[in-house]
Amino acid sequence: MAYFRNIYDALATTLAGMQITLRNAFIKPITLQYPEVRHTVPERFRGQLFMRTEDCIACDQCVRICPVDCIYLDSVKRAPEDVAETSDGSKKRLWLTRFDIDVTLCMVCGLCSEVCPTDCLYHTHEYEIAPRHRKGMFLVFAEPQDIEKGKVAAERWEREKKEKAAAAAAAFGAANDRRATGTGSSRSPRCGSLWEPGSLQGYR
Ligand code: SF4
Ligand code: SF4
Repeated sequence: MAYFRNIYDALATTLAGMQITLRNAFIKPITLQYPEVRHTVPERFRGQLFMRTEDCIACDQCVRICPVDCIYLDSVKRAPEDVAETSDGSKKRLWLTRFDIDVTLCMVCGLCSEVCPTDCLYHTHEYEIAPRHRKGMFLVFAEPQDIEKGKVAAERWEREKKEKAAAAAAAFGAANDRRATGTGSSRSPRCGSLWEPGSLQGYR
């Protein structure tokens, strides 16, 4: 009796398995032949970040809003003759000398792209972020020519600052000499007419 029972169980379980196979044989497959075939991501999908440097005004807003501090930005003030415009007409008053994003820290919250006033920082639909080395996750955007011009501008501002300080020191010394020798105004420099507004700037 047990012999026939075993035969019955074998046939029943085989038929039950075949039933599931038959039922799924006519269902549309949900798997994709990746990488030949890929999913179409939704319009608002947040993938890899990208920044169009030509439209960045170095306003720092993305840096300040980033909750994990993974955006690094440096800038230098442009000379008046170097002020440029972005594609939407915003003024570019600063040289962007550094704009890096550490993607290993980024939590893809989208706050930086939301706050960007020129929409130059945005999430692409790129989701295959798998570099061979970790440094591939560190995105560097600043243009070499902007970095170079930023260096020149920084040197210029530093030079001008020193010249102003030297001029203020010379004026201060001359006023003290006149007071010591009793020539010129005897009034205190702080309330006297010898002093031009801003002549003490270099001392602050
Ligand atoms: S997406 Fe969020 S975490 Fe990533 S860089 Fe932007 S603000 Fe920072
Ligand atoms: S918010 Fe936009 S414009 Fe401002 S520094 Fe960031 S990327 Fe540049």
